[in-house]
Amino acid sequence: MADVAQSVVQWLPIAEIAAKVASGELKAVDLVEQSLRTIAAKADYQAIIATTETRARERAQQIDADIAAGKPAGRLAGVPFIAKDNYLVFGADTTAASNILRGFEAPYQATVVNRLEAEGAICVAKANLDAFAHGGSTENSDFFTTKNPHDMTRVPGGSSGGSAAAVVLDMAPFALGTDTGGSIRQPASFSGCVGLKPTYGLTSRSGVVAMASSTDVMGPLTRSVEDAALVFDIFAGQDELDSTTTPRDPAGYSDIAADDTWIQGKKIGVIKEYMSEAGSLEAGVRQSVNAAVDKLRAAGAEIMEISLPSLPLSLAVYYIVVPAEISSNLSRYDGQRFAYTSPDATNLEESYSLSRGVGFGKEAKRRIMIGTYVLSSGYYDAYYKKAQTVRTKIINEFAAAFLQVDFLLGPTAPTTAFKIGENANDPLQMYLADVMTAGPSLAGIPAIVLPVGASDGLPVGIQLMAAQRQDRALLTLARQTERLVV
Ligand code: GLN
Repeated sequence: MADVAQSVVQWLPIAEIAAKVASGELKAVDLVEQSLRTIAAKADYQAIIATTETRARERAQQIDADIAAGKPAGRLAGVPFIAKDNYLVFGADTTAASNILRGFEAPYQATVVNRLEAEGAICVAKANLDAFAHGGSTENSDFFTTKNPHDMTRVPGGSSGGSAAAVVLDMAPFALGTDTGGSIRQPASFSGCVGLKPTYGLTSRSGVVAMASSTDVMGPLTRSVEDAALVFDIFAGQDELDSTTTPRDPAGYSDIAADDTWIQGKKIGVIKEYMSEAGSLEAGVRQSVNAAVDKLRAAGAEIMEISLPSLPLSLAVYYIVVPAEISSNLSRYDGQRFAYTSPDATNLEESYSLSRGVGFGKEAKRRIMIGTYVLSSGYYDAYYKKAQTVRTKIINEFAAAFLQVDFLLGPTAPTTAFKIGENANDPLQMYLADVMTAGPSLAGIPAIVLPVGASDGLPVGIQLMAAQRQDRALLTLARQTERLVV
């Protein structure tokens, strides 16, 4: 095994890998093998549900052959990546880490995956998640819990915990996640990598297992902001298969300012409600965020405190609106069309209830019940309608804040990675981990998390936010912040 461990090397920046593959200096086939070897060597972390190795090797050979034949190489030529297992990808089942989708073979691929492949990227594996992306620790996976790369007794965050751990463990240069209420940002913070949640509508939901359609977005988890910007640049924008998508920024997202003067005079608001939650914000998290703020100020940014009075309500609103949409989206798993069908049913009615009863895990059932309840007549006005009204208030408060400042910032979660099992039997406690990520999701604004320090040896990620469609500016700020904190 010593050979295996030694063969695990760190990845170069993605643009450099692709350039070396394009010039023939590196071979796509070797990069795929490096990924697969690392995945095998670090199997104990349980970040991966399945590899797509046969298809990955074939694609790598084809890419190397095309380059040798002088065909143009893509911007991600030969770059391996790992997709969260709620992306439809050829070469392995798509399970969303749920028993009900076990054995489901994608009939088509996610638009995001197709766009990455068109530039030469190669999917090598599917990452673990909380089943259907419901959760913040991967403990709700119907299969197994992923371990935090820094401490195997702790969670990696979630729901894109497998993707975050895989990147930090060098299994691939980047991974794909989905974020509905924090599922890219919180695992990036807990595991120690960069996680981008783009503006709602800038990423196609086509071919991704739906959670809550009004907040679902796709995004990369990477080792650097530069890598995140490059990957996002490739899949961002309109898609005729998802009518909620909007056009990309004509300036693109990857060619962003790197000079030190850009930050000067930029107005950045520190969210009062996130920093002043006296009891719940861990001291080490507060310190790391404040230290980053000091560096931004010293570099010339104008820092001020900004209050969004309705923001503390976002968690309550989220856990009404999101289960409502989940209950609707999960109704398609009826045992007739997708994957698991109960063999014990004697009629259609029974087939529905037995297939769903066995196929769905506890958390999916909890959310279906909450969602059905808040949408049912008699309760609709009291819960769903009221939640949507408050959601509008939150959207308006963010919009008003962005008239005063260019960016907002705060922590990503009140704590660092918690212990496996610590919150697993207490859904309310688990939901509280989303208190700082749910608001930006409800408002559809872009947010990015990057590591800015550690608390007791565990990573802390800062959360930077911008107004809707300001993803390019947000990436630029993130890149500057990254340079200032290292
Ligand atoms: N932890 C949040 C939840 O459980 C967010 C999940 C997500 O973004 N997919 O809903």
